[in-house]
Amino acid sequence: MRNQLTLLLVLIACTCVRAQPAFSFLTEDENAFVRSELQRLTLRQKAGQMTQVAVDLVFEGPTYVLTVPPVMSEERVNRIIGELEIGSVLNVPSRSIPTVEEYHDYIGRLQAKAMETTGIPILYGQDAVHGVNYVRGSTLFAQPLGVAASFNTELARELARITAYEMKAASIPWNFSPAMDVGRHPAWPRNWESFGEDPYVNQKFGLAMVQGYQGDDVSDKTSVVACLKHFTGYGSPRTGRDRTPSYLPERQLREYYLPQFQAAIDSGALTVMINSGEINGIPVHTSKELLTDVLRGEMGFEGLLVSDWQDVRYLYERHQVARNLKEAVKMAIDAGMDMSMTAVTTEFPEVVVELVQEGALTESRIDTSVARILAVKVALGLYEKHLWDPAEFPDFGSERFARKALQSAEEAIVLLKNDGLPLPIGADQRVLLVGPTADNMRSLNGGWTYSWQGDKADEYLQEYNTIREALEKEFPDRLTYVEGASFDTLKNVEAAVTAAVEADILVVCLGELSYTEDPGNINSLILPEAQRRLFNELHATGKPIVLIMAAGRPRLMSSMANRSRAVLFAPYPGPRGGDALAAILSGRVNPSGRLPLTYPRHPNALETYDHKATEARNGSFNPLFEFGAGLSYTDFKYSELSLSSRVMNPGDSLEVSLRVTNEGDQAGKHAVLLFTSDLVASVTPSVRRLRRFTKLHLEPGEYRDITFILTPQDLAFIGRDQRAVTEAGTFRVSVGNLTKEFDYED
Ligand code: BGC
Repeated sequence: MRNQLTLLLVLIACTCVRAQPAFSFLTEDENAFVRSELQRLTLRQKAGQMTQVAVDLVFEGPTYVLTVPPVMSEERVNRIIGELEIGSVLNVPSRSIPTVEEYHDYIGRLQAKAMETTGIPILYGQDAVHGVNYVRGSTLFAQPLGVAASFNTELARELARITAYEMKAASIPWNFSPAMDVGRHPAWPRNWESFGEDPYVNQKFGLAMVQGYQGDDVSDKTSVVACLKHFTGYGSPRTGRDRTPSYLPERQLREYYLPQFQAAIDSGALTVMINSGEINGIPVHTSKELLTDVLRGEMGFEGLLVSDWQDVRYLYERHQVARNLKEAVKMAIDAGMDMSMTAVTTEFPEVVVELVQEGALTESRIDTSVARILAVKVALGLYEKHLWDPAEFPDFGSERFARKALQSAEEAIVLLKNDGLPLPIGADQRVLLVGPTADNMRSLNGGWTYSWQGDKADEYLQEYNTIREALEKEFPDRLTYVEGASFDTLKNVEAAVTAAVEADILVVCLGELSYTEDPGNINSLILPEAQRRLFNELHATGKPIVLIMAAGRPRLMSSMANRSRAVLFAPYPGPRGGDALAAILSGRVNPSGRLPLTYPRHPNALETYDHKATEARNGSFNPLFEFGAGLSYTDFKYSELSLSSRVMNPGDSLEVSLRVTNEGDQAGKHAVLLFTSDLVASVTPSVRRLRRFTKLHLEPGEYRDITFILTPQDLAFIGRDQRAVTEAGTFRVSVGNLTKEFDYED
């Protein structure tokens, strides 16, 4: 369409009556086309465009428990797409994982109906958060927290490219990813869906993923539209439980929860999803301040703003700020929402029509949202092509993609402790493997893996190795496995203790199953007693213990970590996580992950690395493992830290250089993290903030001189007037134990 219909579009544009703002991401012709579509559509059709339903609604059987295999219902397709003229559909038919061919069939039928009815293609969306986890045979990667632990943004970009390719193989052009929530509460059950506790890490990885998903041209055959989640302030509920209130002063919001969205919007992200929660007593779905004044006005977001799952309805069912659906719909639309993910209900479009007819909403307000929705459809080129032939995607599920998935697993794993060199495991050592995370796929994959809660991972990932299966291959004839305990119940502990007598080294796998959102809420970060007792019994044997914590958040392990010789954190490394752990334990792979979060030591000391000085007085900041912790089998040394100048002025940039040398005898990858500290500021400064990072590969004896460039913006903070400011004064740069100071003069 971009070229072929130019003349027609220009003619249509000339006949347009109501002016709508032009989208900078569309050409003039495309903008004219969007305007002409608005002219053509009835109010009912526009309300349909603003509605997104779960795909379950077009299949036979009750919602959430469809027939197996799913059978598409012609009657329901006629109702949802034909009569209600709904413009967007999401997710997977419940209780099944379709192949690309099946998606081609289902989506093809929906698109055909839509084109026959409104002439507007459906925008189909899915949560492909670690690969296309709702498509059979796709390539799954480490979850975002693990990707962040890699500190390898180039890898993140490649994973997102692959995800986009495999989504398009299934004719799905909209990905509800990346989540850039900044998990600031360690108990929050969606920490692992974000890139950890630091806003800069979330910004860099979010950006890399957006670039990977959308590519250079979002209408390209192998690109999809990204969706930035969840705008904003979602990652820090006061209780740590999902969708419970957050209390965020404006300064905090601006410092931690806007910059990553701004960077992604500036790079062209076309859709944003609203935070389901409330901030300072205001459900975000009703916040005109955030959704319109800040997101549109200040941040310049032009694209489509979608609600989260059923969140308009929840304004009266949960939040109690509306008396009924009608009030809720008006509130959300007044606030700035464009599309409602009504999910399993369908009253929304009718309510929108009523509100306009009653004069409670104007049609021009509806047009504003519909224009944004159509603009995204046009940008994707969906009018021209909305169905892709799976045969045109020969790399789907390929070996090439699998290698990247393995790399994502290897780089996700963090070696936190290695005392007395129990790792790598020696060539003749007999290994006893124990624990509830040793032999299941859920603990390696987390939620959004073949189902919302990830509970189908073992069924669908049988061809991949659990830790047990991978270790059996890695250590043939010298591995014994005894479960010992399930997640919360002791099992054959005595058998484990007996087997320990025969072993040289015990690999104890503790942690969590898969979960997300409310079902993942916990009342304590402390591991269930059964796991602690299992550990104690094994420790009493006196054999050296390698502790593997396979979990999506930092479950407390202080006493156990202290009594282990080696500790590894495996934050959902994906289907190849077992292989990656085996290769790290045997030394075939040199670990290179670093913690993207602060691992707490005590239940009530849940600080972040960028705490204030008052939080660290008298040694009170004492986490079990610091943000950025991560060991290697080789020895990386930093030297020759230098600054290009002692003084930085406005408009200047400062070069920070250092040498990184691999002084050990093994090749390895290593992420270098650069922090700055503002020594005196008008708002109490954090003790340090991450400003730059990069990842290197160095052969034994090799060194690399690297240079980071800092600008005054990197030193800015949200000042007393709620605006970003870089204040004159002394700043400290630190990389590892090396530090240098410079002055900023304005
Ligand atoms: C989650 C979102 C997700 C949506 C659609 C919601 O429950 O909060 O992150 O994109 O469901 O599956």
